[in-house]
Amino acid sequence: MPSVKSYAAQSAETPLAPYTIVRRDPKPHDVQIQILYCGVCHSDLHTARGEWGGTVYPCVPGHEIVGKVTAVGSHVKKFKVGDLAGVGCLVDSCRECDNCKDGLEQYCSNGMVGTYNGQEKDGSGNTYGGYSKSIVTHEDFVLRISDKLPLEAVAPLLCAGITTYSPLRHWKVGKGTRVAVLGLGGLGHMGVKLAAAMGAEVTMLSHSPSKEKDAKRLGAHNFVLTSDAAQTKAVTGYFDFILDTVSADHDYNFYLGLLRTNGTMVCVGAPPSPATIPAFNIIFGRKSFAGSLIGGIPETQEMLDFCAEHNIVSDVEVIAIRDINEAYERMLKGDVRYRFVIDMATL
Ligand code: NAP
Ligand code: ZN
Ligand code: ZN
Repeated sequence: MPSVKSYAAQSAETPLAPYTIVRRDPKPHDVQIQILYCGVCHSDLHTARGEWGGTVYPCVPGHEIVGKVTAVGSHVKKFKVGDLAGVGCLVDSCRECDNCKDGLEQYCSNGMVGTYNGQEKDGSGNTYGGYSKSIVTHEDFVLRISDKLPLEAVAPLLCAGITTYSPLRHWKVGKGTRVAVLGLGGLGHMGVKLAAAMGAEVTMLSHSPSKEKDAKRLGAHNFVLTSDAAQTKAVTGYFDFILDTVSADHDYNFYLGLLRTNGTMVCVGAPPSPATIPAFNIIFGRKSFAGSLIGGIPETQEMLDFCAEHNIVSDVEVIAIRDINEAYERMLKGDVRYRFVIDMATL
């Protein structure tokens, strides 16, 4: 089985550093992919630093993977050597439960297998993600990638794209919907682009005044600085739908107040601490407070095709892998415009 270069965290306290992993040889349904680019998601940081608990070390993060197929198993039908291919946040699921049959593998009743920090179903151990030279994945969890768009800017679609696309579709956002996207980072900037492409009226809610110009360039119709009381008062009771992408602890109740009657606030951001929401804050106005996890494989392919059709990609800053720890620090400060993507040629 081939040894593969990667970057791993050895504990919650240690920075990421070079590490050699072993990938399996392709089984009959496997696709082996040389990774060209891997996006840097805030979930990588939460996991590498053990912020959610449950991290198995060494941890090789990365679930926004694009690359080229270098080998396929004997039964693979969807891919051939030389094809572009993508791997997102999950690499396996039971395929038998109702959710899997509905293409909602991320909600597999028997537990989906994450691209990193997951447990392989064959008992072979922990999964390692895209901060590595190559990956071997069952063809059912490999996505087709258009050759029309810049590859480095497509990589973030595999998590930031689908995580925002899926709730926008599920709650039927479109023309006439007043949408707010809370937090302008990797997920947030994709949320703005996608909601605008779906025809919604989009407002950016941000705590960073410096991002107003960018928000409008990305497709937001309005910008509200969340630290400015006069600006937030003007949108109290205004939105049909709020997509909350904030990575740090914040007051959900404040934002529930910006929903109109029957409005829905969906959490995709996953801050480490639990929150308290008084029932009255959703009883009055018949409001919904919901969550959404990435997206299933069919919907991820649908999103990639939608992006190719509408010419939507991520705004990226390409980095060398040796700069990953600095990139994490900058991400924590909100200093990323709007997704770091690692050029794997630097590994
Ligand atoms: P990111 O690029 O770091 O963006 C997070 C944004 O949140 C920041 O740009 C900032 O926007 C805002 N923010 C950060 N700290 C804040 C604070 N103290 N107060 C208020 N706002 C703050 O992160 P990301 O990669 O988009 O990920 C966002 C979150 O989604 C993470 O928790 C990640 O784990 C989670 N996630 C969930 C799923 C899912 O399936 N549900 C999938 C992927 C990621 P402004 O400067 O505009 O305020
Ligand atoms: Zn992610
Ligand atoms: Zn299942």
